[in-house]
Amino acid sequence: MTFRGFLMVLTSVGLMAGIAGCSQEQTTTQDAAQAAASEELSVGMIDDQRIIDADDEPGNWLAYGRTYEEQRFSPLQQINKTSVKDLGLAWYKDMGTNRALEATPIVVDGMMFFTSTWSRVYAVDAVTGEEKWSYDPQVPREWGRRACCDVVNRGVAVYKGHVYFGSLDGRLISLNAQTGEKVWEVDTIIDRDRFYTVTGAPRVANDKVFIGNGGAEFGVRGYVTAYDAQTGDEVWRFFTVPGDPAQPAESDAQVMAAETWKGTNYWEYGGGGTVWNSIVYDPDLNSVYLGVGNGSPWTRELRSPGGGDNLFLSSIVALDADSGEYKWHYQTTPGDNWDYTAVQDIALADMTIDGVDRKVLLQAPKNGFFYVLDRTDGSLLRANQFAAVTWASHVDMETGRPVEVAANSFDEQAQWVLPGPLGAHNWQAMSVDVEAGIAYIPVQENALIYAMSDEYYETGLYKRHPGRMNLGLEFGRIAQLFIDNIAEQPKVKGYLKAFNFLTGEEKWAVEFPHFWNGGVLATEGGLVFQGNVLGMFAAYDASTGEVLWDFNTYVSMLAPPITYQIDGVQYVSILTGTGGGDLFSGAPLDPVPNPASLTYSNTGRLLVFKLGGDESLPSPTLRDMTIPEQQLVAMSDEKIAEGEILYHDFCAPCHGLIARSGGVIADLRMMGSGSHENFNAIVLEGALTANGMASFADSLTADETAVIHAYVKARAHEDRQVAIGQAEAARLTWLK
Ligand code: CA
Repeated sequence: MTFRGFLMVLTSVGLMAGIAGCSQEQTTTQDAAQAAASEELSVGMIDDQRIIDADDEPGNWLAYGRTYEEQRFSPLQQINKTSVKDLGLAWYKDMGTNRALEATPIVVDGMMFFTSTWSRVYAVDAVTGEEKWSYDPQVPREWGRRACCDVVNRGVAVYKGHVYFGSLDGRLISLNAQTGEKVWEVDTIIDRDRFYTVTGAPRVANDKVFIGNGGAEFGVRGYVTAYDAQTGDEVWRFFTVPGDPAQPAESDAQVMAAETWKGTNYWEYGGGGTVWNSIVYDPDLNSVYLGVGNGSPWTRELRSPGGGDNLFLSSIVALDADSGEYKWHYQTTPGDNWDYTAVQDIALADMTIDGVDRKVLLQAPKNGFFYVLDRTDGSLLRANQFAAVTWASHVDMETGRPVEVAANSFDEQAQWVLPGPLGAHNWQAMSVDVEAGIAYIPVQENALIYAMSDEYYETGLYKRHPGRMNLGLEFGRIAQLFIDNIAEQPKVKGYLKAFNFLTGEEKWAVEFPHFWNGGVLATEGGLVFQGNVLGMFAAYDASTGEVLWDFNTYVSMLAPPITYQIDGVQYVSILTGTGGGDLFSGAPLDPVPNPASLTYSNTGRLLVFKLGGDESLPSPTLRDMTIPEQQLVAMSDEKIAEGEILYHDFCAPCHGLIARSGGVIADLRMMGSGSHENFNAIVLEGALTANGMASFADSLTADETAVIHAYVKARAHEDRQVAIGQAEAARLTWLK
């Protein structure tokens, strides 16, 4: 046993003592729950020790990031630089979806567990794909409007015979892993009038399930809750931003946080700081690390007039896993002004840095700097820039704070800023090869023209609007800002980068014509796997970035691949289907080569590959991108401009900038006569609620929908001559 293994055994003995203490206090409720779920549990028998020892059974993928360290680096090597040329499709499963699939499947003892859209859960045989059970939590479809970023789910946790997942409408549900029957369900949401959603995978450790939520764009207060894995009882809750100062603070950490906020009404906006993706458990230190999101609203002068760091926005916060008590924090973006969440996947590692053995925490958040922290105390060891950044020049290693570029501020006028709100890196997982000191990161460069609202520039005032996004930016006018300033727009790019996070050197980079590409898996076989927006699932040489193998799925991908091995056969698996947080950008203005989502249908599938696999996919269906002739309405340019602003406030987050959809949600320019006739039935009466298009009658009047409708028709008329969808040849040759 290595010294580290010995430490882990000691730690786990400590954990067991903790569990015993806990169960004594909760005997009654636990007995009741156990009686209710008295079935034989034999499937999904993962526990803390199995995850800690995950490298002893590399054929399984036991936790979200494979291990508690969440490096997403697999020791498997049957598929390697030499053999990968023989990789082929073993089987696939049609999911019957056309929205984004983002899940990381869990594979244990021959079974695979994963989620689909609307928080549906599936259990399949990991060798044959045969479906064992599925579970639909029946998310009310009007919840689709409450989700900033599609009706997605990033996966389940499997633990001691149970499958845990969060539903879009905020429930945490425990299922029997063998049967798919519900064991318990709790409501994790503290205020159902606010637009909270849950899309992240819960993490499970030490007999607790940890879950956060999203919704900062709409104005919510972020928090994370730990529940007892057996009973669903709440164990602790940690708020990431302070609440109403007239009420007692929940903890000393809240008192400390409140000192960094100014103004008199930040709590009415919610404050933000949602933990919608990364919650990592550290068995060595019995800590939980939270990746905390952006502020509500985005702009700091509105959120906290007069300044302040606004803890714990855009921070990594370490808590005691048993009590939820604060240990330390590191704030990546003090006084966040740009939607620079620090919710991106966190990886843990033990490394020697500058001659010192360290327990480190690694994260590449939206703001463009790759952070290496000592996770015993949160001290900053490195902050190297991994993408184009214009908001800050560098991170001052003395103070640990970024040095903002004042010339690029949008406090007084509109300004293109890199990264934009989709970040230099979003939730699409990176993979870390600790031995090589390399992180393989899906990097993106997509600037936004940030501008405060005209109302703010003129009066300094801002009013929260319940039931819609509250960003503090001039979002309605963004089309005008965008077009007026297009000459200064930095070029949109996407990369897969091999990045040395200790030196800041880029080892290699593969460039893509679009930025919203998929998560990454690296393996001991010397390969880096990624699915991209062009629909290609590819394996790259980890040393050079050379494409060694690829497969055309004809569907844009976001989900991270995983790998597992059963009966001596290694498999690689990925879910297809795009969408997620980037419905707003819509179709790229430069359409060559086209994303797959604009050429083919956005077919959701689970694909599983093995060496010698010879299955093939059905021929893809080409999209009809014809814009029908329009019956234009007689309406003044002024009215149509009003429609443009309302469209961008209410419709563009899903249907796309300047009414050009990216292919996931309906392109309104292509509406048929039926949709035109029923426009108000759809927008105001909720005729398409079943698809997630709920009524906007709480926010829009019939006069307003009339000008929106006129704007959409005018845009369709303008674009009728534009033949998008003709770039297939260029798309297919891109990776060759
Ligand atoms: Ca956000």
